[in-house]
Amino acid sequence: MDIRRLPQAMCALARWRMGWRDLLLQAGLLGLVGLLALPAQAQWHERRATAMGTSIHVELWSEEADVAEQALTAVITEMHRIDAEFSPYKKDSQLSRLNAQAPKGWVEVSPELFELLARSAWVSELTSGAFDVTYASVGRYYNYRDREAPDAKTLEALVQHINYRNVELRPATSEVRYAVEQVYVDLGGIAKGHAVDQAIAKIQAFGITQASVAAGGDSRIIGDRRGQPWTVGVRHPRDPEAVAVLLPLEDTAVSTSGDYERYFDAQGVRYHHILDPSTGSSAKGSVSVTILGAQSLLTDALSTSVFVLGPDKGIDLINRLEGIDAIVIDASGQMRYSDGLAGLE
Ligand code: ADP
Ligand code: MG
Repeated sequence: MDIRRLPQAMCALARWRMGWRDLLLQAGLLGLVGLLALPAQAQWHERRATAMGTSIHVELWSEEADVAEQALTAVITEMHRIDAEFSPYKKDSQLSRLNAQAPKGWVEVSPELFELLARSAWVSELTSGAFDVTYASVGRYYNYRDREAPDAKTLEALVQHINYRNVELRPATSEVRYAVEQVYVDLGGIAKGHAVDQAIAKIQAFGITQASVAAGGDSRIIGDRRGQPWTVGVRHPRDPEAVAVLLPLEDTAVSTSGDYERYFDAQGVRYHHILDPSTGSSAKGSVSVTILGAQSLLTDALSTSVFVLGPDKGIDLINRLEGIDAIVIDASGQMRYSDGLAGLE
């Protein structure tokens, strides 16, 4: 498979790459969070909400207040819709229905769910299986809030069933079947990115050309901020109040995956929510991975993937992809960049 053929035409980021190099202010590990909270101007409209287990923040520019309000409402409604359809925790979601029925036979799903599964499989191929939505065959037995991990026997029995090829897809009829009974799918590594892309499409449908949508660690911006670049901060992985890097960006998607989002520490080991599909245990090697690209769906999935691959293999992969860049903070705390961002060190 030609890894340069991305699922959708990736808009060339070369011009922004130049921009990144010129504009990127490497903030060292300084606390610059105050800079992110500049007051909005009169025609900036914003909304905050909670969906998909994370905080949503939408900002957009419109001179018509009612258009702005309609767009903001459309975005939040869309986020809740996606949450309701693709949450594995909600018993009546489409994904829960699939997890219950697909081990027994073919299940017809919506074109949207089919597409998400097909794109997930595409990313699995691209990343040699580092990204795998069936990670949850084991991952479902972790409970970070209650400090629970699967016991050795459960892990050993189930890790063999983590394999995206166990999710069989019939495009002609939009049907899905799991090849093995123990398979369980969780779209947590890609659904938020999809939601952000959908939100941006909703905003663009109102004719709005300057906006920012953030869902937890996944953000996408369109246009600039009235002649200035937007500023997206990458959180310091060990200090929630501090920013590791400030990224001045325009027309870009940016996703960060970290080992500090959902985790617990026990016996000197950090049990966090990004699992290496080959072991069923939390991925080691990085503490934070940020991916820049054109589309949130891909930056979201790739931030999880590069986290699993580790800094060396992860950055190698990103260097082979057109229009995608990475900033990795490795386990020793060192900041590492893909070639498109070289020179920042
Ligand atoms: P978040 O923005 O939710 O912190 P990430 O983009 O870092 O998330 O993705 C982590 C989520 O991805 C996990 O909570 C889990 O749902 C899912 N996940 C974990 N490991 C994998 C994996 N190897 N492949 C695909 N998805 C994964
Ligand atoms: Mg991700």
